[in-house]
Amino acid sequence: MNSELERYRTYEKLGWPNSIPVEPRDLAAAGMYFTGQRDRVACFACRGCLSNWEAGDSPQEEHRRLFPKCPFILGQYCDNVPLDKETNSTDSMPSGLPDYAIKTPPLDRLVPSKLGIPASGRLIHPMDIVMSSRPTPDVLQTCQHPQYAMENQRLDSYRGWPARNPMKPTVLSRAGFFYSGASDKVICFYCGGSLQSWQQEDDPWVEHARSFQRCEWLMQQKGPYFMEHVLRTS
Ligand SMILES: [Zn+2]
Ligand SMILES: [Zn+2]
Repeated sequence: MNSELERYRTYEKLGWPNSIPVEPRDLAAAGMYFTGQRDRVACFACRGCLSNWEAGDSPQEEHRRLFPKCPFILGQYCDNVPLDKETNSTDSMPSGLPDYAIKTPPLDRLVPSKLGIPASGRLIHPMDIVMSSRPTPDVLQTCQHPQYAMENQRLDSYRGWPARNPMKPTVLSRAGFFYSGASDKVICFYCGGSLQSWQQEDDPWVEHARSFQRCEWLMQQKGPYFMEHVLRTS
């Protein structure tokens, strides 16, 4: 059900009641497929259900209101295949769809711009998600090393970083690490976890996730799908 087209087809297949004042194309675009029961729809990403539609309801807004943590709503990686993606390629042009479904405008509005995710990034690879580098008050209160909560504070700690080390201080500080001053050992400002012996091919985000799965800051920065992806592939 990660395909908008698939979702759209459930309304046709299971017989969406004509009397419901909400359009299948809007529901499908908002991540919802039809369950076949009354006017009950479910989200492919968070499994949240919505029903009792009234005239003027916006599926997108209702979805956001009731399931604000939904990865689809947050614009995080969730494998969604928007309709315009599928219809762009001529060989997968759906047949039997009404004209308006094919001409659905781009779904850019689905991606909250405040997360800094580009409109073209609806199919964001989990490895590429970075949400924001500014710590929230919450993070400042709960982190182990508040003096390194800002990325530039962490970067400053890399004076004396071994020049021959294959890992760049900018990359390490972006991933939450400040320099311990010893060898190439770095420490996460949030969870306090330390890592060293960096290799050229290492990705500090991935190593961070692999070694310190409980790091809340990392989870906030990269989202649950990134964590899952790392743990699945390691
Ligand atoms: Zn959802
Ligand atoms: Zn951490």
